[in-house]
Amino acid sequence: MNFIVLTIFPELFDPFWEYGIISRAIKRNKINVSAVNIRDFAAGKHRVTDDRPYGGGCGMVMKAEPLASAIRAAKITNSSAKTVLLTPQGRTFKQNLAREFASHKGLILVCGRYEGVDERICEEFIDYEISIGDYILTGGELAAMVIIEAVTRMVPGTLGGVDSAGKDTFSDNLLEHAHYTRPRSLEGEDVPEVLLSGNHKAIEKWRFETSLIRTFLKRRDLLKDRPLSRQEIEILKKWCRDIEKIIHTQSLFGFDALSGSQ
Ligand code: SAM
Repeated sequence: MNFIVLTIFPELFDPFWEYGIISRAIKRNKINVSAVNIRDFAAGKHRVTDDRPYGGGCGMVMKAEPLASAIRAAKITNSSAKTVLLTPQGRTFKQNLAREFASHKGLILVCGRYEGVDERICEEFIDYEISIGDYILTGGELAAMVIIEAVTRMVPGTLGGVDSAGKDTFSDNLLEHAHYTRPRSLEGEDVPEVLLSGNHKAIEKWRFETSLIRTFLKRRDLLKDRPLSRQEIEILKKWCRDIEKIIHTQSLFGFDALSGSQ
């Protein structure tokens, strides 16, 4: 997978390439990365990449010619790469899009600045317009890093554990189960007994149940387009019965009775 970032601040990416998963993926040749300065494609002594907007108004607009030349140059060595414009007006970036991007040979990520890029670039050169959320950043660089990191995690062989990405939150439209590490007891809160049991089947079952229940509690919207299996419905029904039992016991006998009954 090739990532080519087009930006007027390529130095911002130097530390990004040097740490964690990205650095490891580069060293293992799982990904190739480059941050290309759009200024290198700008004409004139001052290599200007922005200009005042037609029609007046505040702010500057990124000029079309340097961007067009930079995209064309990136395409020479990566003809099948898809061109992505980072823009708050684009489709929201989600895990399924990260998966789709990982299936491409390369991505050319175009980072805007100022008021954005000349509209003719969007019309002529861009395959995807992508936003990382409904807020305004100063430039597309952070958004490009978000995409590079999420997509790299999808490239086989980039993560430490076997199949780690497949178990992450949003795989199969579920949030991942809860995690615990030492100490076993923290200020009166204990790690769930099952995780200490050594019974891998029971642990897997607990993890799946908590994953489903926490998705239901925190992100019910994820379950909207995901039909529940009969087994999953049973898990949620049992959880409802457990909660009803807790509420019933507490309403009859108070909290002390509840803690005594556990
Ligand atoms: N004037 C633009 C508008 O209202 O749509 C916002 C321009 S923003 C200040 C400058 C650049 O930051 C954009 O061209 C884009 O590349 C990037 N950017 C800002 N917010 C973004 C977001 N939520 N997702 C992706 N890129 C973003």
